[in-house]
Amino acid sequence: MSHFKPIYVVFQEGVPNVYVQAAMRGMTSVVNLLGVRSGIPVHNFGVWREPGWRQMGSLVSEMSVDWYIQQGRGQRRNQIVIEPILQAFAQEVWQQHQPHYDVLVLHEDLHPGGGVKGVNFILGCTFRGLASVVSCHQFARMEVDESVRAACMETTVMHEIGHLFGLCPKTWVDAMDQEAFGGPHCTNRCIMRQRVAVDGWLELTRDRLEHPPFCQRCYVGVQQLLLEGEVS
Ligand SMILES: [Zn+2]
Ligand SMILES: [Zn+2]
Repeated sequence: MSHFKPIYVVFQEGVPNVYVQAAMRGMTSVVNLLGVRSGIPVHNFGVWREPGWRQMGSLVSEMSVDWYIQQGRGQRRNQIVIEPILQAFAQEVWQQHQPHYDVLVLHEDLHPGGGVKGVNFILGCTFRGLASVVSCHQFARMEVDESVRAACMETTVMHEIGHLFGLCPKTWVDAMDQEAFGGPHCTNRCIMRQRVAVDGWLELTRDRLEHPPFCQRCYVGVQQLLLEGEVS
């Protein structure tokens, strides 16, 4: 499977425009930064709905963003569970038409699902090489300027795209936080550090705006992952 394939971006209906723009900026800035814009074009499908997406009041499988989101409903009150949505992206027929990365942006709150304990919410989650799901819900509640909230959303999207492209590999045993929630994360001054609390994302965002977003290792490593599928 080639790592060079387009990113298909879809949005839940009702995501405020400021977060739509922030998410798109996050994705385009990563592909530009890595120099892979022509190999990994970013397509915004908006609130994606194919003709005939709803029949007799029911959502038709794989025909709208609404159907994918519905897969994550019913397990938790007031939260969307990500795991079944990532499974749906993994199995969808659209991958056979055109291999691609999927990115879904929501305004509802997210939970990772499965047996994950001690986590009340999650900002985003990624199935490497396949799909990312991100929510603006927690940022929209922050008591800071809208521009700062949008910048935090942008950081989160960039972080998830880093995962989508394979960061951080388990083979990087040194200088890695192997025990971090969601797998190995970077420990350098880098957007690939793990932060669980929303305040932590303010810190990552400040660092991202003042320094290169990726540390040298993640920057070189992710380009190598995309080109060769492995990191030495
Ligand atoms: Zn992460
Ligand atoms: Zn890093």
